Amino acid sequence: MKDAAPKTIYLKDYTPFGFTVESVHLTFDLAPRATRVIAKIEFAPNPERTDKTFFLHGEELKLKWAKIDGTEVSPVVTDDGLRCDVPDGPFTWECEVEISPETNTALEGLYMSNGMYCTQCEAEGFRKITYYPDRPDVMSTFTVRIEGDEPVKLSNGNPTGSGDGWAEWHDPWPKPAYLFALVAGNLVNHPDSFTTMSGKDVELNIWVRPGDEHKCAFGMEALKKSMRWDEEVYGREYDLDIFNIVAVDDFNMGAMENKGLNVFNSSCVLASPETSTDDNFERIEAIIAHEYFHNWTGNRITCRDWFQLCLKEGLTVFRDAQFTADMRGEPVKRIHDVIDLRARQFPEDQGPLSHPVRPESFQEINNFYTATVYEKGAEVIGMLKSLVGDEAYYKALDLYFDRQDGQACTIEDWLKVFEDVTGRDLSQFKLWYSQSGTPRVSVADDWSDGTYTLTFKQHTPPTPGQEVKDPKVIPIAVGLLNPNGDEIVPTRMLEMTEAEQSFTFDGLASKPTPSILRGFSAPVVLERVVSREEQAFLLAHDTDPFNRWEANRTLTRNCLVNMITDDAEPDDAWLTGLEKVVRDDTLDPDYRQLMLSGPTQSELAQVLFEQGVTPDPDKIWDASERLRQHIANKWQGWLKDLADQMVVDAPYSPDAEQTGKRALSGALLSLISRLDGGAAAQERFDTADNMTLQLSALTHLIRAGRGDAALEAFYTQWRNDRLVMDKWFGIQVGMADPGVAVDVATALSQHEDFDWKNPNRFRAVMGGLAMNHAGFHRKDGAGYAFLADWLIRLDDKNPQTTARMCSVFQTWKRYDANRQALIREQLERIKAKPKLSRDTDEMVTRILG
Ligand code: ZN
Repeated sequence: MKDAAPKTIYLKDYTPFGFTVESVHLTFDLAPRATRVIAKIEFAPNPERTDKTFFLHGEELKLKWAKIDGTEVSPVVTDDGLRCDVPDGPFTWECEVEISPETNTALEGLYMSNGMYCTQCEAEGFRKITYYPDRPDVMSTFTVRIEGDEPVKLSNGNPTGSGDGWAEWHDPWPKPAYLFALVAGNLVNHPDSFTTMSGKDVELNIWVRPGDEHKCAFGMEALKKSMRWDEEVYGREYDLDIFNIVAVDDFNMGAMENKGLNVFNSSCVLASPETSTDDNFERIEAIIAHEYFHNWTGNRITCRDWFQLCLKEGLTVFRDAQFTADMRGEPVKRIHDVIDLRARQFPEDQGPLSHPVRPESFQEINNFYTATVYEKGAEVIGMLKSLVGDEAYYKALDLYFDRQDGQACTIEDWLKVFEDVTGRDLSQFKLWYSQSGTPRVSVADDWSDGTYTLTFKQHTPPTPGQEVKDPKVIPIAVGLLNPNGDEIVPTRMLEMTEAEQSFTFDGLASKPTPSILRGFSAPVVLERVVSREEQAFLLAHDTDPFNRWEANRTLTRNCLVNMITDDAEPDDAWLTGLEKVVRDDTLDPDYRQLMLSGPTQSELAQVLFEQGVTPDPDKIWDASERLRQHIANKWQGWLKDLADQMVVDAPYSPDAEQTGKRALSGALLSLISRLDGGAAAQERFDTADNMTLQLSALTHLIRAGRGDAALEAFYTQWRNDRLVMDKWFGIQVGMADPGVAVDVATALSQHEDFDWKNPNRFRAVMGGLAMNHAGFHRKDGAGYAFLADWLIRLDDKNPQTTARMCSVFQTWKRYDANRQALIREQLERIKAKPKLSRDTDEMVTRILG
């Protein structure tokens, strides 16, 4: 809990720990309220040290005894650790502590979930298990003995022995404590095996609670695909005899890459066609890949300190995106990622929580597992790859793995391999890591005598703590089309380095139409005033699938903005162009579905705000509804035919092809429901044999105002499946009419199955409300008060999940004075809560600004 004045930690203050750890031996004697942990740790003086203080982190530990070289000692114990006098040379530290996993509701350290013991140590949870230098630059081998009656007892590395009531594990790869894991309980496994490229056999297991066995097969296939892919694309082989994955119901995040023992939020690994949607399958495949890829980018090569978090996360997100693109198609994956970036990272980077990809200070590191560190961090790597080219990229990566293996590294180490391989000076590029904010790029063009000139200007608005920004290196992919729509200049990567810079294209027969920022080659806002005709031309002809989609997105957005601000009618010229694309059966269904998905209401609020218009959530909602209804009316002649063509006539598979068809058919059904009052959706709901169809039908029924019976039936069918029940909770709030969303959320929060201490369930309801833009921003502030009540309540139990959820308030300054005052009132109420956690305190303080 927070002390009087929260402490800020700075990157510039980094110093190495005064000791190295040669080996760690841990013995766990498991008991729900009194687990004993005996540690035996070999320390030696660190030759690089500047400070000899022997301080070990430790929180919520009951110290029983401590010894140095076998002699009992009396360390000075404080709230956050202990200090002790130690010999000058190497020495053995031993101690015993007692901890209480059962009462650990923060889900950090050793805790219990449904009777099962499990751990979560990233970022700083190991200090709740024993006294230790809990920092990523202290790496050591771990030997673990687990004693207890639980039939299954797992830890990192390879199993070295087991018997009645005990099991031992040894991890030969030195690792920081945040990668430590232990799991024990009544678990069953889904086993398999994998032969690595050098012919080593690896035992694979997915461990789940009895009853979930039938939900493991897909995750296992994803794991094997990931292992093969990392060998083929990055030359990286797995390095232990066994790889275990465990599904845990109570988990703050998605999953965790502990060495050889990945722990997953059960929602991110368990899947079956009956209970999981296509989106769930795709997400699970990506997260399994992500955690597996961490074995090299994160575990073998880790971070020197938590400021370098993007070193492992940005790179691993980039790698999992490459993997998904290879498995499911590049353009569609890219579009999904850009939608996500704009929905989560842009608001963060353009509001009070803005921070650099590599932050320079923090109070609570858990608050920096953000879209900026992860997703913008991955974008930065994508730009680097575009700038140096594929060949140099893979060469640099080989050098990175070679040079840095076994070390705890910095962004400087990372950039150095690129400089060494290419001879380039990356000091300006490095600004992407240190400067926060989303750059805005404007473009003017000029045409004379066969020469076409594009002049770009870049500008990054001030962000908290950074008033002035320098120009960055921005790779801008550009292609040119002639008036017939043929590509006359294929994609060229322009490298912008100045505040203002021109690029010319010579020898052209006629004035071209430019296609700029193809593939979204940089995470910037492109400010370009383009006529409707030109956007329509790009929608019809752009050879870059991303920009073709982008042209439509812009047209959709502009149409909605005009409807909101000028009460304009929907833009029928655009809809004629869109219709051609949606009905073009040479295009993949998933791409066509993406064309139909308009901007979210929150994105529209941001667009209006940037145009100097105070967004009115109710007007945004009305315009979005009016547009959908207009489209449905306009296209009623052919919607059903196309939907029929999208029916999948084969056994369910979550592959890209079937997924695309179901996605398009879901989007069409949504329109059809506006014409038939939900009759077709009801039929689909009654006959659906997989969760994708069932859930999408349920969504449309709720939207059509006839969801009650279906919700009831769904509840009866699935009440014993936690993951499906999370959907049931979330969808009711998310899809509710804005006027009643808070009431629905309130009622659900009183439901007997609302287990608010379970992060998935809490997020289902609260996240569902936040997604219901006009519902959450109800004029009287009821949405804000409801959420604040729950955040205040959860903070005592689970600071991490509370703090993350606070970010739904980060966009508060967009709205009118009334709403701002109502939000401020709630933020201040949270801030005034006695014993507010350090996590939540930091978030609320930053959001208030
Ligand atoms: Zn990660």
